[in-house]
Amino acid sequence: MNRILIAEDESRIAAFIEKGLRSHGFTTAIAGDAESATQMALDSAFDLLILDIGLPGKSGLEVLEELRGQGEKLPVIILTARDDIQDKVTGFEAGADDYLTKPFRFEELLVRIKARLRNHSNQAADEIVLKMRSVTLDLRSRKVKVGTETIELPAREFTLAETFFRHPGQVLSREQLLDRVWGYNYDPGSNIVDVYVGYLRKKLGSDLIETVRGMGYRLKV
Ligand code: CA
Repeated sequence: MNRILIAEDESRIAAFIEKGLRSHGFTTAIAGDAESATQMALDSAFDLLILDIGLPGKSGLEVLEELRGQGEKLPVIILTARDDIQDKVTGFEAGADDYLTKPFRFEELLVRIKARLRNHSNQAADEIVLKMRSVTLDLRSRKVKVGTETIELPAREFTLAETFFRHPGQVLSREQLLDRVWGYNYDPGSNIVDVYVGYLRKKLGSDLIETVRGMGYRLKV
């Protein structure tokens, strides 16, 4: 059975979504503000998060950034009252999987939820091999192939490469990369991320990872 977290402060809307989902056999929980949404998403095993942008405390986008920053991969569908293209762009950059503008019919939401859950379980099944253009990471053997050539990467470089390959096209800040690859105790003023990105470019191809000025790095798709 799929467990869905609904982060929505308007109780009328939260109840509407919850009622619909329960009648389709989902288990649900509601978080009414940004803080509890973040905690609940990190602490319990939900299969999907429905995330309102306009939450008390922080915005839904900040919640999403925080979750992705902590390595939380659950699928997220953003809800917003504003049909704002900028929200949409920002939402996808922050790691949203889909997007729905209020008001919506429950069936629209259900279709998206089902699509996301299906994608996610497919991904989880073939996540043993990650591929971008001519570069393949085998997560089981921890071997890297560039074209037909197999190369060895030291553990830290492999983990950094894996982090990029798990978020293709997404900008990852130095802080996020430090956090995920080196652990949060690392000195944030260090340039180690830049040095290691340099190693990966040398070994995997110079145009694989691009610099996004003032923001971080991104695996080019
Ligand atoms: Ca709201």
